[in-house]
Amino acid sequence: MNFVVFAGGVGGAKLSHGMARSVGAGLLTVIVNTADDLEMHGLHISPDLDTVMYTLAGIANPETGWGIAGDTFGNFEMLQKLGMQPWFRLGDRDLAVHMTRTQLIKEGRTLSEAVALLSQRLGIESRILPMTNDRVRTIVDTDEGLFSFQEYFVKARWQPTVRSLIYEGAEEAEPLPQAVRAVETASTIIIAPSNLYLSIDPILSMNDVKDALLNASAPIIAVTPIIGGEAVKGPAAKLMRELGEEPSAAAVAEHYADFINGFVLDERDAHLKAEIEDMGVGVLVTDTLMKDEDDRARLACEVVNFADQLRPEKLGGCRLDQSALNAGADDSKLPSDVQNP
Ligand code: GDP
Repeated sequence: MNFVVFAGGVGGAKLSHGMARSVGAGLLTVIVNTADDLEMHGLHISPDLDTVMYTLAGIANPETGWGIAGDTFGNFEMLQKLGMQPWFRLGDRDLAVHMTRTQLIKEGRTLSEAVALLSQRLGIESRILPMTNDRVRTIVDTDEGLFSFQEYFVKARWQPTVRSLIYEGAEEAEPLPQAVRAVETASTIIIAPSNLYLSIDPILSMNDVKDALLNASAPIIAVTPIIGGEAVKGPAAKLMRELGEEPSAAAVAEHYADFINGFVLDERDAHLKAEIEDMGVGVLVTDTLMKDEDDRARLACEVVNFADQLRPEKLGGCRLDQSALNAGADDSKLPSDVQNP
Protein backbone atom coordinates (compact mmCIF):
# COMPACT_ATOMS: atom_id res chain seq x y z
CA MET A 1 0.00 0.00 0.00
CA ASN A 2 1.22 3.50 -0.71
CA PHE A 3 -0.52 6.75 0.01
CA VAL A 4 -0.13 10.04 -1.82
CA VAL A 5 -1.17 13.40 -0.37
CA PHE A 6 -1.33 16.64 -2.38
CA ALA A 7 -0.51 19.41 0.07
CA GLY A 8 0.13 23.09 0.63
CA GLY A 9 1.27 24.32 4.02
CA VAL A 10 -0.59 24.09 7.30
CA GLY A 11 -3.75 22.13 6.29
CA GLY A 12 -1.69 19.77 4.14
CA ALA A 13 0.98 19.30 6.78
CA LYS A 14 -1.53 18.49 9.54
CA LEU A 15 -3.29 15.79 7.49
CA SER A 16 0.05 14.39 6.26
CA HIS A 17 1.21 14.12 9.85
CA GLY A 18 -1.99 12.26 10.71
CA MET A 19 -1.39 9.95 7.74
CA ALA A 20 2.18 9.24 8.80
CA ARG A 21 0.93 8.27 12.26
CA SER A 22 -2.04 6.24 11.15
CA VAL A 23 -0.80 4.32 8.09
CA GLY A 24 2.96 4.43 8.75
CA ALA A 25 5.37 7.17 7.74
CA GLY A 26 7.23 4.93 5.29
CA LEU A 27 4.10 4.40 3.16
CA LEU A 28 3.47 8.12 2.65
CA THR A 29 4.45 10.41 -0.24
CA VAL A 30 3.53 14.08 0.05
CA ILE A 31 3.51 16.17 -3.14
CA VAL A 32 3.93 19.79 -2.11
CA ASN A 33 3.14 23.12 -3.75
CA THR A 34 6.19 25.24 -4.58
CA ALA A 35 4.41 28.13 -6.32
CA ASP A 36 4.75 30.26 -3.17
CA ASP A 37 8.52 29.76 -3.00
CA LEU A 38 10.59 32.94 -2.94
CA GLU A 39 14.14 34.20 -3.11
CA MET A 40 15.21 36.50 -0.31
CA HIS A 41 18.67 37.54 0.99
CA GLY A 42 20.01 35.27 -1.78
CA LEU A 43 18.27 32.28 -0.20
CA HIS A 44 15.79 29.86 -1.75
CA ILE A 45 12.81 29.69 0.62
CA SER A 46 10.07 27.06 0.22
CA PRO A 47 7.37 27.86 2.82
CA ASP A 48 5.01 24.95 2.08
CA LEU A 49 7.78 22.35 1.80
CA ASP A 50 9.20 23.57 5.09
CA THR A 51 5.86 23.50 6.89
CA VAL A 52 5.37 19.88 5.77
CA MET A 53 8.96 19.01 6.64
CA TYR A 54 8.91 20.61 10.09
CA THR A 55 5.52 19.06 10.87
CA LEU A 56 6.59 15.54 9.85
CA ALA A 57 9.85 15.99 11.77
CA GLY A 58 7.87 16.99 14.87
CA ILE A 59 9.58 20.39 15.16
CA ALA A 60 6.87 22.70 13.74
CA ASN A 61 5.73 25.68 15.75
CA PRO A 62 2.12 24.84 16.67
CA GLU A 63 1.33 28.43 17.62
CA THR A 64 2.13 30.12 14.32
CA GLY A 65 1.57 27.24 11.88
CA TRP A 66 4.90 28.12 10.24
CA GLY A 67 8.51 28.00 11.37
CA ILE A 68 10.23 25.93 14.02
CA ALA A 69 9.07 25.54 17.63
CA GLY A 70 11.18 27.56 20.05
CA ASP A 71 12.96 29.46 17.27
CA THR A 72 14.50 32.86 18.00
CA PHE A 73 14.53 35.92 15.76
CA GLY A 74 17.95 37.44 16.41
CA ASN A 75 18.68 37.80 12.69
CA PHE A 76 15.36 39.53 12.09
CA GLU A 77 15.95 42.00 14.93
CA MET A 78 19.44 42.74 13.63
CA LEU A 79 18.12 43.31 10.10
CA GLN A 80 15.64 45.80 11.58
CA LYS A 81 18.44 47.52 13.47
CA LEU A 82 20.43 47.76 10.25
CA GLY A 83 17.51 49.54 8.56
CA MET A 84 16.70 46.69 6.17
CA GLN A 85 12.93 46.85 6.92
CA PRO A 86 12.45 43.07 6.72
CA TRP A 87 8.82 41.98 6.26
CA PHE A 88 9.24 38.20 5.98
CA ARG A 89 10.07 36.77 9.38
CA LEU A 90 12.69 34.04 9.24
CA GLY A 91 13.68 32.44 12.53
CA ASP A 92 17.32 31.74 13.27
CA ARG A 93 16.96 27.94 13.04
CA ASP A 94 14.62 28.25 10.06
CA LEU A 95 17.33 30.33 8.38
CA ALA A 96 19.77 27.44 8.75
CA VAL A 97 17.42 25.28 6.66
CA HIS A 98 17.19 27.93 3.91
CA MET A 99 20.98 28.33 3.95
CA THR A 100 21.49 24.56 3.65
CA ARG A 101 18.93 24.19 0.85
CA THR A 102 20.43 27.13 -1.06
CA GLN A 103 23.94 25.74 -0.68
CA LEU A 104 22.84 22.28 -1.86
CA ILE A 105 21.21 23.84 -4.94
CA LYS A 106 24.29 26.00 -5.61
CA GLU A 107 26.39 22.82 -5.49
CA GLY A 108 24.28 21.46 -8.35
CA ARG A 109 21.53 19.52 -6.64
CA THR A 110 17.92 19.87 -7.71
CA LEU A 111 15.30 21.16 -5.27
CA SER A 112 13.91 17.62 -4.87
CA GLU A 113 17.38 16.27 -4.06
CA ALA A 114 17.90 19.06 -1.54
CA VAL A 115 14.52 18.28 0.08
CA ALA A 116 15.38 14.57 0.25
CA LEU A 117 18.67 15.35 2.01
CA LEU A 118 17.07 17.81 4.42
CA SER A 119 14.30 15.30 5.19
CA GLN A 120 16.84 12.59 5.84
CA ARG A 121 18.87 14.83 8.14
CA LEU A 122 15.69 15.75 10.04
CA GLY A 123 14.83 12.07 10.48
CA ILE A 124 11.72 12.10 8.29
CA GLU A 125 10.66 8.68 7.01
CA SER A 126 7.98 9.85 4.58
CA ARG A 127 8.86 10.98 1.08
CA ILE A 128 8.36 14.73 0.57
CA LEU A 129 8.38 15.77 -3.09
CA PRO A 130 8.24 19.30 -4.47
CA MET A 131 5.65 19.43 -7.27
CA THR A 132 8.44 20.36 -9.72
CA ASN A 133 12.11 21.28 -9.83
CA ASP A 134 11.24 24.08 -12.23
CA ARG A 135 10.26 27.60 -11.31
CA VAL A 136 6.51 28.15 -10.94
CA ARG A 137 5.31 31.28 -9.11
CA THR A 138 1.81 32.38 -8.13
CA ILE A 139 1.14 35.97 -9.15
CA VAL A 140 -1.90 37.59 -7.57
CA ASP A 141 -3.84 40.03 -9.76
CA THR A 142 -5.70 42.42 -7.44
CA ASP A 143 -7.56 45.73 -7.46
CA GLU A 144 -4.26 47.23 -6.22
CA GLY A 145 -2.18 45.70 -9.02
CA LEU A 146 -0.05 42.57 -9.43
CA PHE A 147 1.61 41.07 -6.37
CA SER A 148 4.09 38.26 -6.00
CA PHE A 149 2.49 35.67 -3.75
CA GLN A 150 4.34 36.45 -0.51
CA GLU A 151 3.94 40.21 -1.02
CA TYR A 152 0.19 39.64 -1.24
CA PHE A 153 0.05 37.09 1.58
CA VAL A 154 2.52 38.42 4.12
CA LYS A 155 3.23 42.07 3.27
CA ALA A 156 -0.33 43.05 2.23
CA ARG A 157 -1.83 40.54 4.73
CA TRP A 158 -4.13 39.19 1.93
CA GLN A 159 -6.27 42.32 2.07
CA PRO A 160 -6.34 43.45 -1.61
CA THR A 161 -9.32 42.15 -3.58
CA VAL A 162 -8.22 39.38 -5.93
CA ARG A 163 -9.31 39.40 -9.58
CA SER A 164 -7.40 36.37 -10.80
CA LEU A 165 -4.42 34.13 -10.08
CA ILE A 166 -1.60 33.42 -12.49
CA TYR A 167 0.62 30.36 -12.05
CA GLU A 168 3.62 31.77 -13.87
CA GLY A 169 5.78 29.08 -15.46
CA ALA A 170 3.30 26.26 -14.83
CA GLU A 171 2.71 25.49 -18.51
CA GLU A 172 6.41 25.01 -19.24
CA ALA A 173 7.24 23.30 -15.94
CA GLU A 174 7.83 19.58 -15.83
CA PRO A 175 6.07 18.01 -12.85
CA LEU A 176 8.49 15.97 -10.77
CA PRO A 177 8.61 12.54 -12.49
CA GLN A 178 8.62 10.75 -9.10
CA ALA A 179 5.43 12.64 -8.19
CA VAL A 180 3.65 11.59 -11.40
CA ARG A 181 4.84 8.02 -10.85
CA ALA A 182 3.61 8.13 -7.25
CA VAL A 183 0.15 9.14 -8.47
CA GLU A 184 0.15 6.37 -11.09
CA THR A 185 1.09 3.68 -8.58
CA ALA A 186 -0.69 4.92 -5.43
CA SER A 187 -3.28 2.84 -3.64
CA THR A 188 -4.97 5.97 -2.25
CA ILE A 189 -4.67 9.62 -3.30
CA ILE A 190 -5.74 12.41 -0.97
CA ILE A 191 -6.16 16.09 -1.72
CA ALA A 192 -5.46 17.65 1.67
CA PRO A 193 -7.64 20.40 3.20
CA SER A 194 -5.35 22.98 1.63
CA ASN A 195 -6.20 26.23 -0.09
CA LEU A 196 -7.69 25.17 -3.44
CA TYR A 197 -6.40 28.18 -5.40
CA LEU A 198 -3.09 28.87 -3.66
CA SER A 199 -1.89 25.38 -2.79
CA ILE A 200 -3.62 22.71 -4.90
CA ASP A 201 -4.38 24.45 -8.23
CA PRO A 202 -0.71 25.33 -8.87
CA ILE A 203 0.07 21.58 -8.70
CA LEU A 204 -2.91 20.70 -10.92
CA SER A 205 -2.07 23.43 -13.42
CA MET A 206 1.10 21.67 -14.59
CA ASN A 207 0.80 19.46 -17.68
CA ASP A 208 0.43 15.75 -16.99
CA VAL A 209 -0.71 16.06 -13.36
CA LYS A 210 -4.43 16.24 -14.17
CA ASP A 211 -4.04 13.39 -16.69
CA ALA A 212 -2.22 11.29 -14.12
CA LEU A 213 -5.10 11.88 -11.68
CA LEU A 214 -7.75 11.14 -14.32
CA ASN A 215 -5.98 7.88 -15.23
CA ALA A 216 -5.10 6.84 -11.66
CA SER A 217 -6.49 3.52 -10.55
CA ALA A 218 -6.53 4.60 -6.87
CA PRO A 219 -9.54 6.30 -5.31
CA ILE A 220 -9.00 10.06 -5.03
CA ILE A 221 -10.43 11.75 -1.95
CA ALA A 222 -10.48 15.50 -1.24
CA VAL A 223 -10.87 16.83 2.29
CA THR A 224 -12.69 20.14 2.67
CA PRO A 225 -10.70 23.21 3.71
CA ILE A 226 -14.00 25.08 4.21
CA ILE A 227 -16.19 24.58 7.29
CA GLY A 228 -19.50 26.44 7.64
CA GLY A 229 -18.66 28.70 4.72
CA GLU A 230 -15.38 29.86 6.26
CA ALA A 231 -11.73 28.81 6.01
CA VAL A 232 -10.27 27.34 9.17
CA LYS A 233 -7.28 29.60 8.53
CA GLY A 234 -6.17 31.95 5.77
CA PRO A 235 -7.84 33.45 2.70
CA ALA A 236 -9.58 30.46 1.03
CA ALA A 237 -13.16 31.67 1.66
CA LYS A 238 -12.30 35.31 0.90
CA LEU A 239 -10.71 34.23 -2.39
CA MET A 240 -13.72 32.10 -3.31
CA ARG A 241 -15.98 35.12 -2.86
CA GLU A 242 -13.67 37.38 -4.84
CA LEU A 243 -13.32 34.87 -7.68
CA GLY A 244 -17.10 34.56 -7.99
CA GLU A 245 -17.61 31.26 -6.15
CA GLU A 246 -19.89 30.72 -3.21
CA PRO A 247 -17.58 30.04 -0.24
CA SER A 248 -18.89 26.59 0.62
CA ALA A 249 -17.64 23.04 0.86
CA ALA A 250 -19.97 22.15 -2.05
CA ALA A 251 -18.16 24.66 -4.28
CA VAL A 252 -14.83 23.05 -3.31
CA ALA A 253 -16.22 19.62 -4.23
CA GLU A 254 -17.44 21.05 -7.55
CA HIS A 255 -13.98 22.52 -8.16
CA TYR A 256 -12.45 19.02 -7.94
CA ALA A 257 -15.47 17.02 -9.20
CA ASP A 258 -13.98 15.94 -12.54
CA PHE A 259 -11.26 13.82 -10.93
CA ILE A 260 -12.24 12.95 -7.31
CA ASN A 261 -14.18 9.86 -6.25
CA GLY A 262 -14.88 10.98 -2.71
CA PHE A 263 -15.20 14.17 -0.67
CA VAL A 264 -14.81 14.53 3.08
CA LEU A 265 -17.37 17.02 4.32
CA ASP A 266 -17.35 18.52 7.78
CA GLU A 267 -20.22 17.47 10.05
CA ARG A 268 -21.17 21.14 10.42
CA ASP A 269 -21.96 21.08 6.67
CA ALA A 270 -23.85 17.77 6.63
CA HIS A 271 -26.78 19.44 4.83
CA LEU A 272 -24.57 19.71 1.69
CA LYS A 273 -24.14 15.94 1.38
CA ALA A 274 -26.89 15.31 -1.20
CA GLU A 275 -25.76 18.25 -3.34
CA ILE A 276 -22.24 16.81 -3.53
CA GLU A 277 -23.48 13.26 -4.16
CA ASP A 278 -25.43 14.66 -7.12
CA MET A 279 -22.04 15.55 -8.66
CA GLY A 280 -21.30 11.80 -8.75
CA VAL A 281 -18.92 12.04 -5.79
CA GLY A 282 -19.13 9.84 -2.67
CA VAL A 283 -19.34 11.76 0.62
CA LEU A 284 -18.02 11.06 4.11
CA VAL A 285 -19.39 13.36 6.81
CA THR A 286 -17.15 13.73 9.84
CA ASP A 287 -15.39 16.20 12.12
CA THR A 288 -12.61 17.58 9.89
CA LEU A 289 -11.21 20.13 12.34
CA MET A 290 -7.72 19.03 13.38
CA LYS A 291 -7.25 20.75 16.72
CA ASP A 292 -4.57 18.41 18.01
CA GLU A 293 -2.41 15.51 16.89
CA ASP A 294 -5.02 12.89 17.75
CA ASP A 295 -7.56 14.68 15.53
CA ARG A 296 -5.07 14.52 12.66
CA ALA A 297 -4.55 10.76 13.01
CA ARG A 298 -8.26 10.07 13.50
CA LEU A 299 -9.24 12.09 10.42
CA ALA A 300 -6.47 10.47 8.33
CA CYS A 301 -7.64 7.01 9.37
CA GLU A 302 -11.26 7.84 8.50
CA VAL A 303 -10.18 9.13 5.08
CA VAL A 304 -8.21 5.94 4.39
CA ASN A 305 -11.16 3.75 5.39
CA PHE A 306 -13.50 5.87 3.25
CA ALA A 307 -11.16 5.38 0.26
CA ASP A 308 -11.22 1.66 0.90
CA GLN A 309 -15.02 1.66 0.67
CA LEU A 310 -14.79 3.31 -2.75
CA ARG A 311 -12.61 0.66 -4.38
CA PRO A 312 -13.81 -2.72 -5.62
CA GLU A 313 -11.11 -4.65 -3.74
CA LYS A 314 -10.68 -3.80 -0.08
CA LEU A 315 -7.09 -3.25 1.05
CA GLY A 316 -7.73 -3.54 4.78
CA GLY A 317 -7.87 0.19 5.42
CA CYS A 318 -6.54 1.76 8.56
CA ARG A 319 -6.92 0.39 12.05
CA LEU A 320 -5.72 3.13 14.32
CA ASP A 321 -4.35 1.78 17.55
CA GLN A 322 -5.90 4.01 20.19
CA SER A 323 -2.92 3.44 22.47
CA ALA A 324 -0.72 5.02 19.78
CA LEU A 325 -2.60 8.27 20.22
CA ASN A 326 -1.33 10.77 22.71
CA ALA A 327 -2.25 14.26 23.76
CA GLY A 328 0.09 15.89 21.21
CA ALA A 329 0.27 19.52 20.26
CA ASP A 330 -2.90 21.53 20.61
CA ASP A 331 -3.50 23.70 17.53
CA SER A 332 -6.70 25.19 18.91
CA LYS A 333 -4.69 27.76 20.85
CA LEU A 334 -3.66 29.70 17.77
CA PRO A 335 -3.80 33.38 18.67
CA SER A 336 -6.57 35.00 16.64
CA ASP A 337 -4.17 37.52 15.06
CA VAL A 338 -2.24 34.60 13.56
CA GLN A 339 -5.37 33.16 12.01
CA ASN A 340 -6.74 36.42 10.67
CA PRO A 341 -4.94 39.62 9.85
P1 GDP B 1 -0.94 27.31 3.77
O1 GDP B 1 -0.14 27.13 2.51
O2 GDP B 1 -0.11 27.35 5.02
O3 GDP B 1 -2.01 28.36 3.70
O4 GDP B 1 -1.66 25.94 3.98
P2 GDP B 1 -2.70 25.04 3.19
O5 GDP B 1 -3.08 25.58 1.88
O6 GDP B 1 -2.23 23.63 3.29
O7 GDP B 1 -3.87 25.12 4.22
C1 GDP B 1 -4.72 26.22 4.35
C2 GDP B 1 -6.13 25.70 4.27
O8 GDP B 1 -6.27 24.62 5.19
C3 GDP B 1 -7.14 26.74 4.66
O9 GDP B 1 -8.05 26.88 3.60
C4 GDP B 1 -7.80 26.16 5.91
O10 GDP B 1 -9.17 26.41 5.92
C5 GDP B 1 -7.52 24.69 5.82
N1 GDP B 1 -7.35 24.06 7.13
C6 GDP B 1 -6.40 24.35 8.04
N2 GDP B 1 -6.57 23.58 9.14
C7 GDP B 1 -7.65 22.78 8.91
C8 GDP B 1 -8.32 21.79 9.67
O11 GDP B 1 -7.95 21.46 10.78
N3 GDP B 1 -9.42 21.19 9.09
C9 GDP B 1 -9.87 21.54 7.84
N4 GDP B 1 -10.95 20.90 7.36
N5 GDP B 1 -9.25 22.49 7.10
C10 GDP B 1 -8.15 23.10 7.63
